[in-house]
Amino acid sequence: MNIFKSTESEVRVYSRAFPVVFNRAKNAHLYTEDGKEYLDFLAGAGSLNYGHNNDVLKKALITYIEADGVSQGLDLFTTAKQDFMEAYKQYILDPRGLDYKIQFTGPTGTNCVEAAMKLARKVKGRSGIISFTNGFHGVSLGAVAATGNKHHRGGAGVPLNNVNFMFYDGYLGEGVDTLAVMDKMLSDNSSGIDLPAAVIVEAVQGEGGLNAARAEWLQGLQKLCKKHDILLILDDIQAGNGRTGEFFSFEFAGIKPDIVTVSKSLSGYGLPMALVLFKPELDVWDPGEHNGTFRGNNMAFITARAAVETYWKDDAFAKEIKDKSRVLGDALQGICNKYKGQFRLKGRGLMRGIEASNADLTGAITQRAFKKGLIIETSGPNDEVIKCLMPLTTSEADLRKGVAILAEAVDEIMQESMSAAS
Ligand SMILES: *Cc1c(COP(=O)(O)O)cnc(C)c1O
Repeated sequence: MNIFKSTESEVRVYSRAFPVVFNRAKNAHLYTEDGKEYLDFLAGAGSLNYGHNNDVLKKALITYIEADGVSQGLDLFTTAKQDFMEAYKQYILDPRGLDYKIQFTGPTGTNCVEAAMKLARKVKGRSGIISFTNGFHGVSLGAVAATGNKHHRGGAGVPLNNVNFMFYDGYLGEGVDTLAVMDKMLSDNSSGIDLPAAVIVEAVQGEGGLNAARAEWLQGLQKLCKKHDILLILDDIQAGNGRTGEFFSFEFAGIKPDIVTVSKSLSGYGLPMALVLFKPELDVWDPGEHNGTFRGNNMAFITARAAVETYWKDDAFAKEIKDKSRVLGDALQGICNKYKGQFRLKGRGLMRGIEASNADLTGAITQRAFKKGLIIETSGPNDEVIKCLMPLTTSEADLRKGVAILAEAVDEIMQESMSAAS
């Protein structure tokens, strides 16, 4: 424990909220060195949608390693990569009518966002990108320029250029059509906004406070992009891979983004992997123009393929996620009903949470939940949203148990804050 405090950089963050040492994990549970069990509603910040050490994925991985399968392959053709691509095309892209090329980037979300923005700029020959209020797209310089959060932007240390921000759905309150504002800005040649190459958007803003765009808004955004000859980049890194109840977070709106970024739970086993998907006519890359040593994490390809073949061959898993979403939504709504005006339900699918009108309370609530055996984080500009991001494979019993712990923590902190005030 002392080695962390003496030697690990101050940049560490999650370990500050949960200062214990974990050594084992299974599905929705994490275990510490001294044997304490926690329910994990953080799930690797959404990179463990199929749970910790998923048995099916683990078996595929062990079999591959034992047979001396290629582990790192740059962008060489390998059997693992071929099998992943075929499965992804067969079970994910084709059934959804998505005719995309697949680009393997360096294995982080921020790297595939960089690639997506570079590609859009190259295709359109324009430097500008439009991002949205509360958007989060990663922390490398190009991606952090498209990230709204002041704390993350401040970390850049240089001016962040070539991105303008527009209002996300609901940002100006219910009933304000933020797309009309954007359309006006793009249509008026004196608005001060140059025509961008692309917009980048999340269908549900994971880090930005679980703001969920309406289907009509996403459809309108797609229309607006077409009207102004702008590419639509949909960042599905956190909201994708089944999190909202469908494989892609934008399916419910029936849109077909020009470019999609995918990472986090893509490998399904917490192994680093990222992709950019784009319409074939956008493939203007020269060989190696955006490269990276670790574009060929073949172990990730093995588990990613197993995840696709296990969970997305038919719609049984999607249905299961939708059922669990209902359980989660109802339970969280129960908390909101009990404390009317003080908590509000946010998000969509199994990407939900409660926003506290008093942002000072959320840290205390998540800390109390941790004491009671639940790992859960906050999100939003002021950490005002308590965010449930449990594995999609969490059993219904564990789901109910976790939310019950959260409800208990809310009760205790609300009681304590009221008695402190009186
Ligand atoms: C996490 C995340 C990223 C960045 O991914 P990293 O792997 O942390 O670089 C980008 N966009 C969204 C929406 C994310 O949630």
